[in-house]
Amino acid sequence: MAQHVKRAFKYRFYPTDEQAAALSRTFGCVRLVYNLALEERTHAWYGEQRRVSYLQSSAALTEWKKTEELAFLAEVSSVPLQQALRHLQTAFGSFFAKRSKYPRYKSRKKSRASAEYTRSAFTWRDGRLTLAKMTTPLEICWSRPLPEGAEPTTVTVSRDSAGRWFVSLLCEDTIAPAPATGTAVGIDAGITSLVTLSTGEKITNPRHERRDRGRMAKAQRELSRKAKGSNNRERARRKVARVHARIADRRRDFLHKLTTRLVRENQTVVIEDLTVRNLIKNHTLARAISDAAWTELRSMLEYKCAWYGRELVVVDRWFASSKLCGACGTICGKLPLNVREWTCDCGSVHDRDVNAARNILAAGLAASACGDGVRPQRESSRTGRSSVKQEAQRVTAGIHRL
Ligand SMILES: [Zn+2]
Repeated sequence: MAQHVKRAFKYRFYPTDEQAAALSRTFGCVRLVYNLALEERTHAWYGEQRRVSYLQSSAALTEWKKTEELAFLAEVSSVPLQQALRHLQTAFGSFFAKRSKYPRYKSRKKSRASAEYTRSAFTWRDGRLTLAKMTTPLEICWSRPLPEGAEPTTVTVSRDSAGRWFVSLLCEDTIAPAPATGTAVGIDAGITSLVTLSTGEKITNPRHERRDRGRMAKAQRELSRKAKGSNNRERARRKVARVHARIADRRRDFLHKLTTRLVRENQTVVIEDLTVRNLIKNHTLARAISDAAWTELRSMLEYKCAWYGRELVVVDRWFASSKLCGACGTICGKLPLNVREWTCDCGSVHDRDVNAARNILAAGLAASACGDGVRPQRESSRTGRSSVKQEAQRVTAGIHRL
C-alpha cells in the first residue's frame, strides 16, 4: 500500500532587496509577538497559576495592533504572527504534558529567524510562490523537483545565521512501499566510527568532517581575536556560521543516504536508546556524540521506517551491550573505552562495537517476538520518563541469555 504523508521540501532562495526587507521585518514581528505572548503567559502562570489559551493570546494580539507603539505589527502579514502564537501554544502543551521545559524567549541573535505562512497567506501558481504582502514571486532554486502535482499547504521562510535564505514547502506526497525483505539489522552508536552494524560493517564519519573541523577551529580562533561590536567581528561571526552550516549540511546529507539505505535493505531496524544526557558528562565522548548526530539519525530512522512500512525497535540501553559476550552470555567485568577488542573466557574474540551491535539486534528481536508484553524492568523506567510518548516501539530485554 502506498502511503500518503506530509513531507517538507526545502530550497534556497534569493530575495530581492525589497523582499529581504519585508521578510526581515516579518521575522522581527514574529519574534516580538512570540515573546510578548510568552511574557503574558508567564505572568499569568507564575503569578496566578492561570493558563492563557491560544484564543486569549490571539485576542491580545488584536489589541496590541491597536496601540500606538505596536501599530507596526499590522504592516506585516497577520498569518505568521498567528502561527507564532500557535507554536507557543504547542510549546506550552509540551510543557504542561511534562515533555519539555518551560518555553524560552526567542533571541534576535541566537534563534533561527523564520515565518510560517498557511494556505491563505500565499499564492501558488504554475510553480511560482508569492507570499502575502509581496508583489513578486520568490526566486527559488529548485534543487530537486516537487512531487508531481504537489500543492504546498504550508510555507516556512527562514534565514540561518550564515545569512542564507530558505523556503520549506509542506506538501502531500505518496510514498511507494519498499519491497519486503527478511533481514534485520542492529545499530550501535559509535565513538570511533559513526555507527557499527550487526553485519560487521563500520560506517565512519563523513569524509570532510575532519578538515571541516580544522577550518572551524581556525574560524573560531579568528572570531575570538576581533573586538566586540566591530565590523570585523561581524564578518568573522558570519564565517563561523558558514562553516557550521556546511558541516551540518554535509552531515545531514550523509545521514539521509545512510538511513535510506538501512531502511530499504532491512525489515527490522534495532537501535539503542542512547541517553545522550548521561553520556555527555564524559567530555571525551561529548564531542563524538554531538558529531555522530545520533539524535538526527534516530529521527530519520523513525519517520523513514514509518514511510516504508518497516519496524523500528528501540532497546533501552541498560544492558551492557558492549560487555556482554554474544556467544555465551557472560559479562566481561571491566571494559575501558580504549579497549576495542576483547576475548571472552569462552574463547570468543569480539570487536567491541560489532559485538554491541549484535547484542542490540538480538535484544530487539527477542523483545519484538514477545510483542508489546515486554515491559521495562528497570526501576527508573517504571517511575519516570519511560512511560513514553515515543512512536517507536520501546522494549527492554533482560540480561539473561540473548
Ligand atoms: Zn563468551
